[in-house]
Amino acid sequence: AARLAGKTTLVTGSAQGIGQAIAAHFESEGAEVWRGDLQPMDGERALHLDVSNEESWAKAIAEIKAGSGKLDILVNNAGIEWEKPLQDIPLGDWRKVMSVNVDGIFLGCRTAKPLMERRVEGRASVINISSVAGIVGFPDQVAYNTSKGAVRHLTKSLAVEWAAHGTPIRCNSIHPGCINTPMLAAAGEKWVAAGLIEGDSLMEAMGAMCPLNEVGDPSDIAWGAVYLASDEAKFVTGLELVIDGGFIA
Ligand code: NAD
Repeated sequence: AARLAGKTTLVTGSAQGIGQAIAAHFESEGAEVWRGDLQPMDGERALHLDVSNEESWAKAIAEIKAGSGKLDILVNNAGIEWEKPLQDIPLGDWRKVMSVNVDGIFLGCRTAKPLMERRVEGRASVINISSVAGIVGFPDQVAYNTSKGAVRHLTKSLAVEWAAHGTPIRCNSIHPGCINTPMLAAAGEKWVAAGLIEGDSLMEAMGAMCPLNEVGDPSDIAWGAVYLASDEAKFVTGLELVIDGGFIA
């Protein structure tokens, strides 16, 4: 299928994990894909991007403008995981989580908007990757939970602000549950060390926490992103799309 034919897209945090899968699915649906990450990447349209940095965003969007002249879809996926109970969080670490997970999306939306809203037909699409942790609280991850809750509400705020101003950009969030990526593997090791989960296979033990009894694949999230990016979702804005195997059901 080529649901995204003719669409220019940017996916942040796309060197690995969920972002990499979203970029690959977009490409196979016919999109022109720019990828941005702190990590170096090979290939065409790969940008060095630190989402927490205002100048880095300005450079990335200028490069897309020069190369493609437009931007139809922005996926704000880059994020960092952080787990500590409240009393153990230095202010600097708290701010680091907020600067990547929240400032990163604020800056991305603000910098990309002028390029995204210049259209003759249809609506552009911003997709923000939050988490089930943005809807319910998980113990000992107050910074991460708070940042993802902010992503959820930033998304709703922009959805109604842009609609109210007639800005042709939709804005939705995706809330993944446990998805098999390097981030989840690292978190799982910490949970095992803390005695919160047990088992020989980490992913199996984490999957057992889900009603569907398995962790998800990055492609499970990527298919949701393809839908929200496509014109088939032209009437969808302000949605929180939960893809979690029933985790918070
Ligand atoms: P990951 O750690 O495997 O990949 C994240 C990518 O983001 C990496 O390539 C990293 O280099 C990049 N990145 C980090 N900081 C950056 C910055 N400042 N600027 C640009 N790029 C940066 O993580 P993942 O599991 O693929 O997670 C992707 C998103 O999904 C994150 O926002 C995460 O919070 C969210 N999420 C993941 C899960 C899960 O179970 N894996 C669950 C819920 C939400």
